[in-house]
Amino acid sequence: MSLTSLLMDPESRRMATTQEIATAQGMAKAQDMLTALLPPKGLLLDAMGTLIGLRHSVGHTYAALAANHGLSVSATAIDAVFPRIHRQAPPLAFPGLDGAALESAERQWWADCIAAALAAAGLEEPLPAALADDLFDRFAQADLWRVYDDVAAPLERWHRRGLRLAVVSNFDGRLVGLLRDLGLADWISVVVVSSAAGAAKPDPAPFALALDQLGLSAAQAWHVGDSPEDELGARAAGLACLRIRRP
Ligand SMILES: [Mg+2]
Repeated sequence: MSLTSLLMDPESRRMATTQEIATAQGMAKAQDMLTALLPPKGLLLDAMGTLIGLRHSVGHTYAALAANHGLSVSATAIDAVFPRIHRQAPPLAFPGLDGAALESAERQWWADCIAAALAAAGLEEPLPAALADDLFDRFAQADLWRVYDDVAAPLERWHRRGLRLAVVSNFDGRLVGLLRDLGLADWISVVVVSSAAGAAKPDPAPFALALDQLGLSAAQAWHVGDSPEDELGARAAGLACLRIRRP
């Protein structure tokens, strides 16, 4: 299903709620489910893999910047290990931190992830601190990212129709600037990143925070994402979820 057809298609709305309807118990629950069949008042949207993606592989960029520091490591080898390293990392979430302390924790989280990925890809030297910082700064630059082709038009249309849009992402403070530089900020009212929210999907807390900031209840919004964390977290937060699959 493309983002364009979402919301336009009654069948999409039925798909989003079929499982919950099957388990509805009592009239109060049934009422919630019927409400969920109506077009929502707001949407929560995942970022990576749903709205935006990288133009080059992670390994490509890691290897290129490592070369600037005199280190030779294979992009292909990094790409082979990165998904596992990233998946096994602790949640990108730092309860109680903000400002400079939060950014410092975010940089350290990524430095650990980068060091583990490069070591698993065969790098024997310790990771230079400056390389981790360079990579953190490089991935904050919009030219490394792209907005998927089916994203801008629906966001604009939904915004024009009065739908309130929030991004809920397992990412860090760089996402706000990225969404702005990629031209999406005008359509999005709220950006919740796991690092600042203090909890990462599939924890329901970031969804609840986004709903609170939009001024909507879970029954008034849907979540759209591309991963199991989106589906599990949305369900735990009481939201209907549409999972999109990109080639
Ligand atoms: Mg995603």
